[in-house]
Amino acid sequence: MAMDKQWFADMEAKIPHGKVRTRFAPSPTGYMHVGNLRTALYTWLIARNAGGTFILRIEDTDQGRLVEGATDVIYRTMAECGLTHDEGPDVGGPVAPYIQSQRRDTYGKYARLLVELGHAYYCFCEKTESEEDSGEFDRADDPCRDLTPEEVEAKLAAGLPYVIRQRIPHEGTTTFHDVSFGDITVENKDLDDQVLLKRDGLPTYNFANVIDDHLMGITHVVRGSEYLSSAPKYNLLYRGFGWEVPTYVHCSPVMRDAQHKMSKRHGDPSYEDLKEQGFLTDAILNYVALLGWSPKGEKSEQEFFTLQELAEAFDLAGISKSPAIFDMEKLTYFNANYLRGMEPAAFAKVAEPYIRKAVTNPAYDAAEIADLLQARCEKLTDIPEKVDFFDALPEYGVELFTNKKSKTDAQVSLDMLEKTLPVLAALPDWEQDTIHDTLIALAEQLGVKNATLMWPLRIAIAGKAVTPGGAVELCRILGREEVLRRMEIGINKLK
Ligand code: GLU
Repeated sequence: MAMDKQWFADMEAKIPHGKVRTRFAPSPTGYMHVGNLRTALYTWLIARNAGGTFILRIEDTDQGRLVEGATDVIYRTMAECGLTHDEGPDVGGPVAPYIQSQRRDTYGKYARLLVELGHAYYCFCEKTESEEDSGEFDRADDPCRDLTPEEVEAKLAAGLPYVIRQRIPHEGTTTFHDVSFGDITVENKDLDDQVLLKRDGLPTYNFANVIDDHLMGITHVVRGSEYLSSAPKYNLLYRGFGWEVPTYVHCSPVMRDAQHKMSKRHGDPSYEDLKEQGFLTDAILNYVALLGWSPKGEKSEQEFFTLQELAEAFDLAGISKSPAIFDMEKLTYFNANYLRGMEPAAFAKVAEPYIRKAVTNPAYDAAEIADLLQARCEKLTDIPEKVDFFDALPEYGVELFTNKKSKTDAQVSLDMLEKTLPVLAALPDWEQDTIHDTLIALAEQLGVKNATLMWPLRIAIAGKAVTPGGAVELCRILGREEVLRRMEIGINKLK
């Protein structure tokens, strides 16, 4: 079969050289698991650190596993995380297309080229995909490996279905190098003649990734360590074509505990789940960056990094080969810090939807409530339960009025509420300072600690022991009428 050498030369000519080029190559599964997010992040960081190019490639050759809307999840997550790509399906680029299903013809051509180069062969055996995957395939038995070119031509002419398999040498060893795992050598006899091109004409991942990484000029391949065992076969493919092997960065799995990998199927959270559980994107990214990478030198103690700071500090040497355990408490710690560090207006914006889950009365200002919450929540999902008393005073028992530290009991509380009510009712305005100064003056006048007066007031207006914000702030937000109404209820309970 004559091959169009010019076409291959043109493909080579398009490959950009001279700069770091990395790619994130997700399969559209419908969600972004934590390991994938980390791969995306590291890949992006390597490119940004080097002033290189970051590419998004969609690996959708497994048509049986396609999920509706799944690519949108990828775009949305990448955009939300600030992991902007320079080339990709939506923005184009010099080596388009960036969706594997649109590169079908390319893989077929390269598979045939590899047959011609002697490193692959047509196989007409009737094997189902599950037989392929069973690991029982023994290439020594495969009669197709030794078909003559004439026999192959005849079968092709007869229209027999076929796959194209990699022809792995029987003898010798193959060595590949990984940034964190070092040199790994395997016996060629332990490698299988894997399928490169399937009966439907689509490539396997194992073939497509090599073709695409080469044609897209990828310099650093970052992916999960589940691909380590296939790396020797990839190297044999690169070598078969006479191509340069990229730098491999295989990342150890993110673990749920010492034994188990995190997995969505077993209920471990994906990026979307974490967002839904009230974690901020910035906190997730910061935490995920440190799952398997640690800064060196003067930054070795630093925990908090913006994406920009990560891009400056990131280095391949800091990537660890030991598996990292995903610790929800640690993520919560990062999240609480990020929440506290936000500009109040920015916090109010992210908090508002959570506040509004509990506080539907539009008379209560979400930004004012957000102010009370900012220093007091670890996750956004903590919010509704903390502010549920605004809309409606909860049922509560009088024992809440008793507090040793504030020197209150039912009797004292009743006395305080009865004395405070007319004073608040008579205030000239309902400003925070006015309420505050008046209550402090009243406590002094009554000869009690501030807390002895504030505690019963706060219980009466909130109906719960723990509230974001003190009595004064809550009074101010609830408004005079509601405060007086709730105080009356408290007084009646205590009587
Ligand atoms: N599509 C593969 C995955 O989602 C990507 C592996 C790679 O980055 O090479 O696991």
